[in-house]
Amino acid sequence: MKEEIEKLIALQELNTEMSQFDQHIAEKMQTLKEREQSIEEKEAAVNEFRENAQQFIQNQREIKAAHEDAGVRIKERQNKMMQVQTSREHQALLKEIEDAKRVIKDTEEQLLQAMEQAEKAEAEATELENICTGEKELLAEETTKVEAEVKKLNTRRKTVYNKHGKLAKTMQSSRMKRYEKLLKKRDGLAVVAVVDGVCQGCFMAIPPQQFNEIRKGEQLHSCPTCQRILYYTSPEAPEE
Ligand SMILES: [Zn+2]
Repeated sequence: MKEEIEKLIALQELNTEMSQFDQHIAEKMQTLKEREQSIEEKEAAVNEFRENAQQFIQNQREIKAAHEDAGVRIKERQNKMMQVQTSREHQALLKEIEDAKRVIKDTEEQLLQAMEQAEKAEAEATELENICTGEKELLAEETTKVEAEVKKLNTRRKTVYNKHGKLAKTMQSSRMKRYEKLLKKRDGLAVVAVVDGVCQGCFMAIPPQQFNEIRKGEQLHSCPTCQRILYYTSPEAPEE
């Protein structure tokens, strides 16, 4: 019977390992995906900075045009001054010249500001782009690493699967059926240790009389609460 219990423990270990392969792989892929997303977000921000820079350059063109228009207007009005006859006309031209001069002053300031904004947006785009380039290189390295790890995990999965199959064949079919059923019903955990008189599957206490029986290891015992198959481990050597 001791040998049967040991086989069941080994089966459980293999099943536990088998159930973790997909999770391990999924976790590794998830990490890669998150890093990829972070790079994509940064690239979108780079594009936004570049679009802003373009917009500021466009603004510069418009401001320049307004600046030049004002200059032309001033010259025109100054020429007209020679021909005016009334003081009212004279006043009107003076006011237009004043207005155009204000436009010249304002557009000079605006132009400077738009240039600074364009430069700043462009610098931010470049900086973030450099960060992206670095992160992409690291991600490429990490992807290669993860691919190798996944390959290893899949190889190990095959080995474990074969071991499990061989071991299962040596088991009584009724016992195997009971084990498989428990495995399904109890979330992949069918065989558990009893530690300090407590089932490690459901963490309920095992009656002392049954605990003594389990210790002897002469027959298979089930937890009265969760029905998992129980085995005893000595306190000196807890888990194998
Ligand atoms: Zn239990």
